[in-house]
Amino acid sequence: MSSKEFFRFLPAVDVVLRSNFIASALKDAPRAQLVEWIRSGVERCRQEMLDGREFDAGSAETFVVEHARNSWRFEQGARQQTVINATGILLHTNLGRACLAERAIKQMVAASGYANVEMNMTNGKRNKRGERVCRLFSMLTRAEDTAIVNNCAAATMLTLQTFAKGKEVIISRGQLVEIGGGYRLPEVFAASGAIMKEIGTTNRTYLRDYETAINENTAAIIRVHRSNFFQGGFVTEPDIAELVALGQKHDIPVIDDIGSGCMQSLVDIGLEEPTVPDSVKAGADVTLFSGDKLFGGPQAGLIVGKTKWIEMLRKSPMMRALRVDKVTLAALEATVEIHLQGKASDEIPLLQMMHETREQVKQRCESVVQRLQYSADFVVQVIDTISEIGGGSVPGSQIESAAIQVHGPATEKFASALRSVSPGVLATIREDSVRMDLRTVRPAEVEQLVQCINSAFEAMEN
Ligand SMILES: *Cc1c(COP(=O)(O)O)cnc(C)c1O
Repeated sequence: MSSKEFFRFLPAVDVVLRSNFIASALKDAPRAQLVEWIRSGVERCRQEMLDGREFDAGSAETFVVEHARNSWRFEQGARQQTVINATGILLHTNLGRACLAERAIKQMVAASGYANVEMNMTNGKRNKRGERVCRLFSMLTRAEDTAIVNNCAAATMLTLQTFAKGKEVIISRGQLVEIGGGYRLPEVFAASGAIMKEIGTTNRTYLRDYETAINENTAAIIRVHRSNFFQGGFVTEPDIAELVALGQKHDIPVIDDIGSGCMQSLVDIGLEEPTVPDSVKAGADVTLFSGDKLFGGPQAGLIVGKTKWIEMLRKSPMMRALRVDKVTLAALEATVEIHLQGKASDEIPLLQMMHETREQVKQRCESVVQRLQYSADFVVQVIDTISEIGGGSVPGSQIESAAIQVHGPATEKFASALRSVSPGVLATIREDSVRMDLRTVRPAEVEQLVQCINSAFEAMEN
């Protein structure tokens, strides 16, 4: 039989749609998607026939049904869902960076119906969107004023465009960073319309390089924090206070893009990261940072600094395009309140996780391991490991931690089984074993984690 003769076995789309399996297991899939998957399944089957594979009516239909079932599985995997983060990476960009504080979650829920985004309920008068949140941010960072946009990338873009469209902004060659997810500083400059005036070298840039570069077309100086890599050895650059002094001398604003949004020094846990209040105190005209990194809030871009410059940003027509919604504002408000009340270490998950000792994490690992049920094919141990901050913050950070290590016959398959239970567990694979660092698994999630791991072990039996 030539391959084309098998074509008559290709099932009709509506026949597959009515098949028992599709009607039961895939009953929740939207019809339009089902039709599309079945069509592409038929197309694939046709291709297989052309490639010489033999089918009969039954196997062709099974092929198409399987294709639809797999498409549905991928669709389910893509659906936004709760994930237990057992990677030990605290700010995991693929997992949405910072976990919100309980209070912030409550506020988001409260704001999701009608909410007074632009009104004071005491006098019924209109006020500016996020006016109170901005005030609280100014208080927390000791800045004169605050503007809020969608993320730090938007903050950089808006600042460059508003201060420097068609003009030069001085930047050290050591700070032309790529943050990831398509954020590369030279491209941000290009899109903003500001001209990048590169100075110095990769490893050394001096204050005099900045001074020499200043001319009548200079609109600003920008310092960009190397938030996801580090330089060592023969390295020099002026600090923010020196840049501020230079900027003031020439009446040029200094933009400090610190990204990570650290509010308090982290030296107590051995991490060095610039803080927002320090940048403000040093006199930066505007300081930019993300809401969902070390600040521990929702995705947002915060711009804090001098009134003159923040006002200018607020008036930009781009501001309307970059503003955040009421739900984000609610989460930001609750998170900034927690910081202001001095309760950040107690209430913000990221900071709680960061400050736990290895011993505490280890105890959690032990308590989980005691309740696991698995076959003799597996060896489960609690081991020492290292957690990292991740998410473009505190590069090279190493926090002593502990993990559950599962050594067994099919590492990839076990990791996949862990992802497939509900809620899915994201682990890492190291040296032929699956590792779960419990620094990023909160005490309240432990019960679920035990069940999830046991379900994954069970799935391995079948
Ligand atoms: C993370 C980061 C950004 C991008 O922030 P998003 O909020 O992800 O847009 C920009 N600049 C620096 C220095 C950063 O660390």
